[in-house]
Amino acid sequence: LSERIQKALKNLTGKGKISEEDINRASREIRLALLEADVNFKVVKDFIKTIKKEALGKEVQESLNPGQQVIKIVNEELTKMMGEDAATLNKSKHIPTVIMMVGLQGTGKTTTVGKLAYHLQKTQNARPLLIAGDIYRPAAVDQLKQIGEQLKVPVYSETNEKDVAKIVENGLKEADKNKNDYVIIDTAGRLEIDEPLMEELERVKKVSDPDNILLVVDAMTGQAATDVAKGFDERLGVTGVILTKLDGDTRGGAALSIRAVTGKPIIYTGQGEKLTDLEDFHPDRMASRILGMGDMLTLIERAQQDYDEKEAQKVAEKMKENTFDFNDFIDQLEQVQKMGPLDQIMKMIPGMANNPQLQNMSIDEKQIAHTKAIVYSMTKEERENPDVLNPSRRRRIAAGSARPVVEVNRMIKQFKMARDMMQKVTKGNFKGLSNLPGM
Ligand code: GDP
Ligand code: MG
Repeated sequence: LSERIQKALKNLTGKGKISEEDINRASREIRLALLEADVNFKVVKDFIKTIKKEALGKEVQESLNPGQQVIKIVNEELTKMMGEDAATLNKSKHIPTVIMMVGLQGTGKTTTVGKLAYHLQKTQNARPLLIAGDIYRPAAVDQLKQIGEQLKVPVYSETNEKDVAKIVENGLKEADKNKNDYVIIDTAGRLEIDEPLMEELERVKKVSDPDNILLVVDAMTGQAATDVAKGFDERLGVTGVILTKLDGDTRGGAALSIRAVTGKPIIYTGQGEKLTDLEDFHPDRMASRILGMGDMLTLIERAQQDYDEKEAQKVAEKMKENTFDFNDFIDQLEQVQKMGPLDQIMKMIPGMANNPQLQNMSIDEKQIAHTKAIVYSMTKEERENPDVLNPSRRRRIAAGSARPVVEVNRMIKQFKMARDMMQKVTKGNFKGLSNLPGM
């Protein structure tokens, strides 16, 4: 996915306003990419429309190129679509808050009941009671009991009652007696939505009057999950979604489609089989996951925050005129350092994370400190005119900075090489990577 979008956006360079041509080229690829991520067709169509409207004629921010600007817009829209802020559970005014878990078989309902109980224990000191409402397989009740034992949370179950609604009713009485603040009801699932299941769930809903009906959806089922979500929601009125198995190799399309089609917020995500593997849903993180842009977006943010484009232009001018000196060099180093640890920044650039050259290249923060020490030991004249640095001056600088002379020599040589190289680059095309300070 990321490769596609990166390819699409690579050619979007230059400044000024985002053109129709820029957008058309990008949106064609973004459309394909989203479809590949198994996002619902109609959702994709609407999304592209929004992007076109949003992006066209937008001024490209100084610190970005049009490609980055389009990514930014796409990311913002994706985030918006999935709900800008993290959604939370409904809480009842009187205890207990009742949570009813629904979903197809094998999506992770029972596991999620346990995860949620643990989460509530940990974050709110809650004392939940679990109700075993999947009575068709004895193993299902045992599974929940085991989870209850692990968490030291009571599980209400009955062996002889065949009416699930009755069991739930009794379980709620038990919770009242024990003053449990949460009741989480596990329910049965089927391989697909069928009438008897829906009728049963409706009856459970009626007797328990839940504050939350959480639909558990397996993220790996992709677009099929959309129809299921719609089905459950129409019959039961789902209040929120838990997207499980996001740790699997999923493309994230389900999150986008479910939200767009049902309008129901995703509240939590399941990230593994363990009871600790439940996380809040972060629309912004899911957006960048869907885009597959890794931390590219973070890089854009940081570049915007920390980098002064005008400064860069000045430096570029200086390099062109070959007046780039050690003072500028220090400025550049500091700009880069402000952005964060160097090797992290390098890895955030798309394509760099897996670049074998980068793997072998360790960028040493200490090295930067040494380099700075050397430059600070130079006189004003030396910094402005690196060419005056003869051997005796170099020895003095080495002594002043407490670095070996060979290191001073090496640094000066590297500086000159960098200056020459950058001069060539700036005379050619100053775009793409060279938008980043120090690149
Ligand atoms: P139910 O039929 O809906 O109650 O589903 P279960 O809770 O029994 O889970 C079915 C399977 O999915 C089990 O093997 C769980 O361990 C697994 N599972 C549930 N949630 C997750 C998750 O977030 N990640 C992974 N990898 N596996 C999960
Ligand atoms: Mg189950």
